[in-house]
Amino acid sequence: MLWILISLFFCWLIYREIKQSMAEPKYDGFPPSPIYKPYLAILLVLAILSAWTPLHYWRFQRYLSSIATVLADSHPAKVHCNTALDSIFDREPTFSHANPNDGEIVFQPPLCERLMDYLDHPERAKPVELHSLNTLTHESMHVRGELNEAITECESVQRNYRTAKLLGVPDNIARRNALEYYYGAYMQLKEGGPNAARYFSEQCAPGKDLDEHLNDSTWFTPESNQSDL
Ligand SMILES: [Zn+2]
Repeated sequence: MLWILISLFFCWLIYREIKQSMAEPKYDGFPPSPIYKPYLAILLVLAILSAWTPLHYWRFQRYLSSIATVLADSHPAKVHCNTALDSIFDREPTFSHANPNDGEIVFQPPLCERLMDYLDHPERAKPVELHSLNTLTHESMHVRGELNEAITECESVQRNYRTAKLLGVPDNIARRNALEYYYGAYMQLKEGGPNAARYFSEQCAPGKDLDEHLNDSTWFTPESNQSDL
């Protein structure tokens, strides 16, 4: 919002410059000041640069919203990337969260930036970038209607391959990323830690109770195995 206001300020300076050049001659007979083109060009560049970041995020949020809606089986999802300022006024400032009632998904910074980084180089994704991929899937599962965190997380790890594919990641890399998250970050929850009890389940494994047997499951990997990682 701040950047939009700054951009609008530069637009107003442009408007003022043009308006002054078109004004009636002054009482003393002097013509109005002509447009100083370099000044106008600089203002135009500053206005565009100021608007670029918010427009970029606006487009990215719309893109993520469309992906999340597909993941949530057509339950409408609306993704918002919080700025640091937004987070201060957020009811849950430390965690990304979703509201199944209105489909709103809120990502805390720098999750959207990490997701952008992931999409820049999925073939060498870092653990934090894979976490951002899983968060998109996880919050979409809440919009789909699941509230239990362990079940939600299990639905998520089974769909991370689908999410990566929807984001345009090549098939073999999407599979590798999804398996890497499952055998890495998810399995680390088994060792304990503050989130283990809420998010981990022994039944979240191929062939066990929480296996949804999805056609495009992360686990549906007849040709792949741990050695692919
Ligand atoms: Zn959750």
